[in-house]
Amino acid sequence: MRFIDLRSDTVTVPTKAMRDAMYNAEVGDDVYADDPTVIELEAYAAELVGKEAAIFVPSGTFGNQLALLTHCRRGDEVIVGDDSHIVVHEVGASAVIAGVQLRTLNSVKGELNPLEVESKIRGEDIHFPSTGLICLENAHSNGRVISLDNMEKIYAIARKHNLPVHLDGARLFNASTYLNVPVKDVTKYCDSVMFCLSKGLCAPVGSILAGSKNFVDSARKGRKLMGGGLRQAGFLAAAGLVALREMTGRLKEDHENAKYLAEELSKIPSIKVKIDDVHIDMVFFDASEIKYDHDKLVQEFYNKGIKISPSENGEFRFLTNYWVSREDINYVIDTFKNILENK
Ligand SMILES: *Cc1c(COP(=O)(O)O)cnc(C)c1O
Repeated sequence: MRFIDLRSDTVTVPTKAMRDAMYNAEVGDDVYADDPTVIELEAYAAELVGKEAAIFVPSGTFGNQLALLTHCRRGDEVIVGDDSHIVVHEVGASAVIAGVQLRTLNSVKGELNPLEVESKIRGEDIHFPSTGLICLENAHSNGRVISLDNMEKIYAIARKHNLPVHLDGARLFNASTYLNVPVKDVTKYCDSVMFCLSKGLCAPVGSILAGSKNFVDSARKGRKLMGGGLRQAGFLAAAGLVALREMTGRLKEDHENAKYLAEELSKIPSIKVKIDDVHIDMVFFDASEIKYDHDKLVQEFYNKGIKISPSENGEFRFLTNYWVSREDINYVIDTFKNILENK
């Protein structure tokens, strides 16, 4: 049975072009730095985001945590939004791997207040940890894209205080697509950036961490320490190259489908869609007022060939992706209405 999978954009399986590229990839041992396909991907990715160098890593979490490890010393403090992926969804890794303390700031729909960021930068005092890094997230996992103006202001403050900025850009290309600017216009406001190849871009595995040459040289050693020194990784990098060359330009389709899904969902009585937050491929909606058990709803959808994640605090999250068509969305909406009407 073919499922329509709305749980995430991470569920995307590789395209035919990726499978072909993987099958035919020229590979070597990347720990010896002689896998030509990994080298090609890293160079291509660095150029794309306007940084000197880049390194291929197994996952987005790996890339973020490697960035913390590389930028910071143990005991440093990292300024980061309280609803960021690094704080909420990375298993507390920053305490385990980099050994840093997170100074979480209240985020307003994903944006940090630049003045508050500046007020939290530590001065000299024998009692204080040193501020080591500021982390931003764009696109945010709340589905919104942070304004370039906000990034620019925070980056200027970081410059002033001689602090690096790391951008968690798991969905970086979704952000640049939404803003309708080249991706470099987003990454110019950070010193390092992580982005995922394995989400909306459909590659099976992998993320990129990019930054200065010194930073990436040092991250290469940290990656080995973390167990991320992969051997014939060119098979994965080959799919990553297809992701960057062929899949970044079509994310607009996923965004338009998400908008359409949101508009159609909002026509269903007692569902409250966060329509203003639909910037990329994510739709959040509150369903606490529907007269239908949420777990049962997940099961009913499943029975009809649609996979969705369970609700959290009454709220569901549906994502579109390359493998979800406009027709699929119409089927989802019809199915939803039928379930609620007990048809
Ligand atoms: C998915 C995601 C990550 C982590 O990526 P994984 O590959 O799942 O580890 C990091 N940050 C954000 C904002 C994400 O959405």
